[in-house]
Amino acid sequence: MEKMYDITIIGGGPVGMFAGFYAGLRDAQTQIIESLPELGGQVKALYPEKTILDVAGFVGVTGDELITRLQKQLDTMDVDQKVDTKVTDVVKKDDYFEIETNHGVTKSKTVIIATGNGAFKPRELRADNAKELTGKRLFYSINDLNQFKDQDVMVAGGGDSAVDMALMLEKVASKVYLLHRRDEFRGLEYMVDRLKESSVKVVTPYLIKRLDEVDNRLKVTSKKVKTEDDEMAMMVDDLVVNYGFISNNRQLKEWQIQPALDHRLIEVNQTFETSVPGVFAIGDQITYPGKQDLIATGFGEAPTAINVLMKEIYPDRRGPVHSTSLHRK
Ligand SMILES: Cc1cc2nc3c(=O)[nH]c(=O)nc-3n(C[C@H](O)[C@H](O)[C@H](O)COP(=O)(O)OP(=O)(O)OC[C@H]3O[C@@H](n4cnc5c(N)ncnc54)[C@H](O)[C@@H]3O)c2cc1C
Repeated sequence: MEKMYDITIIGGGPVGMFAGFYAGLRDAQTQIIESLPELGGQVKALYPEKTILDVAGFVGVTGDELITRLQKQLDTMDVDQKVDTKVTDVVKKDDYFEIETNHGVTKSKTVIIATGNGAFKPRELRADNAKELTGKRLFYSINDLNQFKDQDVMVAGGGDSAVDMALMLEKVASKVYLLHRRDEFRGLEYMVDRLKESSVKVVTPYLIKRLDEVDNRLKVTSKKVKTEDDEMAMMVDDLVVNYGFISNNRQLKEWQIQPALDHRLIEVNQTFETSVPGVFAIGDQITYPGKQDLIATGFGEAPTAINVLMKEIYPDRRGPVHSTSLHRK
């Protein structure tokens, strides 16, 4: 007989991964469906080398290490993990949902949407020759710090991640510049304080206009903000641009189930149920008053959603206690 899952988790970012583990603790028949070739979401794809400071229990953990640990935790449970599989539609049937993907259709009693930022990509630099130099001297993420060892590197951007990247690069690079179009940085106060104490040279308020490869190095030409033609050229080896990310969440509008949205985010109640009964949502994809897009927040949302939906599916089953009594191997 065709398998009927209790829970289908759409999206295998950190929040979907932890939800999968917790669903396993509750003995739920669970599948996680992830469109990328591996689990880990934004953390794995966009900042594997960054040190994350605000996950409970870790003084600091790199993105890669956190995902490795989540994967190990998830692997202790009997949860079907389907990667390279994109959910293309969710269809409501009488008392279950059909989950359509590019690899076929499965059935599930409930759904947890954990699609985060959807399909995301870095916001690109608009400057002459930027396209031609992408991947050669211009980068949008740091996958291997050693690539920048003993190089002169410029980071462009003014948010948390840009400050973080500059501080990360300081450990291996010969010289790091941080160029921003404003005089102030939007990063966490703690990071900005560390920036002030560091050897990173801050260059403000400038906007990059043009890139040229000269003698195997990169000439970065920038214009001073609010001036007519006050230009400056700097020579570096590499440029890392961190102007944030553009996400595409239009996919939700293409599904047959239509959870209520606030702009592009799913509205949920206090138990993370959407306007569609049986469909829950957690992580960066949702909105509620005071919602913070953080890993720690999503980790907290998962057990609430799962315990509530388990009560809906199995009203007679004993409710949750502590993890040690839920699962003994
Ligand atoms: C540069 C940067 C630095 C950050 N630093 C921190 C930090 O220090 N601390 C912190 O707490 N947070 C940080 N964040 C935020 C944190 O990464 C997010 O809050 C977290 O990743 C949210 O997890 P998620 O599982 O909800 O979503 P995501 O990580 O976005 O994962 C969602 C997953 O769903 C998949 N998906 C989407 N659509 C489909 C579909 N149709 N079918 C199948 N799969 C699908 C995606 O491929 C993705 O893997 C940072 C974010 C960025 C970009």
